[in-house]
Amino acid sequence: CGIVGIISRQPVADRLVGALKRLEYRGYDSAGIATLENGRLSRRRAEGKLSNLAKLVAERPLEGTIGIGHTRWATHGAPTISNAHPHATKRLAIVHNGIIENYRELKAELEAEGTSFESQTDTETVAHLVTRELERGLPPKEAVQAVLARLEGAFSLAFLFDGDEELLIGARRGSPLAVGEGEGEMFLGSDGIALSPFTDTVRYLEEGDVAVLEHGRITIFDDHGAEVTRPVKRSGGKA
Ligand code: GLU
Repeated sequence: CGIVGIISRQPVADRLVGALKRLEYRGYDSAGIATLENGRLSRRRAEGKLSNLAKLVAERPLEGTIGIGHTRWATHGAPTISNAHPHATKRLAIVHNGIIENYRELKAELEAEGTSFESQTDTETVAHLVTRELERGLPPKEAVQAVLARLEGAFSLAFLFDGDEELLIGARRGSPLAVGEGEGEMFLGSDGIALSPFTDTVRYLEEGDVAVLEHGRITIFDDHGAEVTRPVKRSGGKA
């Protein structure tokens, strides 16, 4: 029900959990984060309160300087650890708000090709679809765009790629997603409140937009793939 992402040169785990706390008001039943530890995807996920996730992260710290986080309000699959986001394949981790309406047919297509699933969520389908495009040789943004074209429903999404410390991708259709610019670090989140301690330079993505976050810049593409600019919404200072 809430999404956050940070690309930085400093460890991000505590800030991811802090941003999820500011999204608590939206409601949730489980939560998780993923970072790259020496380039490899690593996750921490917990049922119930964010304090459970915070405790887990304190016990088993993550040092990564790029990551994504999620508070889940289950729509497909019980609120268990294996259904908690981020969902991951060998190639990527994903967080998702909303519903992929046509996930059953997409999942059936993947299962017919031999893909096995670890969760009951609609979300995991998107993780495997983007992985398949990467394995076919598409670069990350193109892989995401190819899959977005096949999705029905309302969603916001964020992707973290195994082995790539230089890239986060966000996308939205029907659910909100904001991106924020800091100094040498960039952020994404479900709203400006999540990002308020990090930056007051926040842009809201529009319907169908894809945002590419790198250390020095954020590039936004519309649903036709054209590069676009979106207005900055100043929150009136770092709250
Ligand atoms: N449909 C997804 C799930 O059930 C995402 C729910 C949400 O928005 O938190 O896991």
